[in-house]
Amino acid sequence: RFITLEGGEGTGKSTQSRRLAAALEAQGRKVLITREPGGSPGAEAIRHVILSGAARAYGPASEALLFAAARADHVDTVIAPALAAGTWVVCDRFIDSTRVYQGVLGSLSGDLLDSLEGVAVGETRPDLTLMLDVPPEVGLARAAARGEAADRFESEGLAFHAKVRDAFLALAKAEPDRCVVVDATVPPDKVAERIWETVVSHLSP
Ligand code: C5P
Repeated sequence: RFITLEGGEGTGKSTQSRRLAAALEAQGRKVLITREPGGSPGAEAIRHVILSGAARAYGPASEALLFAAARADHVDTVIAPALAAGTWVVCDRFIDSTRVYQGVLGSLSGDLLDSLEGVAVGETRPDLTLMLDVPPEVGLARAAARGEAADRFESEGLAFHAKVRDAFLALAKAEPDRCVVVDATVPPDKVAERIWETVVSHLSP
């Protein structure tokens, strides 16, 4: 089974990915936890190029190709083999992040992005996507409070965070069978509980 976690900056995706993986392991499942951009040696190398800021020199189409190349490598070398071996895969960001950041915010055409998505993932599509949702003020404050080196979007303001949030919510609405929106303003334990209930009801681990 393939589960993805999506949402803007400061929604708690990486924490909740780890918690979900631990809960699945406690049920005796084999679990692979991974993330994008990156997740395989080839894709991590591309992540470095994209997030170092160098990708800004490429323009939106080239950048989308880099994301697609990273995803293709990640799917081929890590995700698909794990799923084929019966391992549960939990991935922090996947296709919906591209639809939001390169699509809605990067203003690339849906047709181009659909083709790239098809090439990159083939049949390897998430069974369940958890959309972690917080209001833009909360995401912005959490991202700032982390005190990590600001990555490419963390310096963006409230309007940007609001657009990201709206775009994820619109995607969730468009694919209600796959996507479940999770309120991520509550404490991490509560978010983890809600995620676990959702996984149990959708995928009976
Ligand atoms: O999830 P994480 O914070 O590691 O993501 C790294 C950065 O890459 C974030 O700023 C995110 O917004 C950006 N990103 C992107 N397009 C994607 C996936 C992530 O611009 N398809």
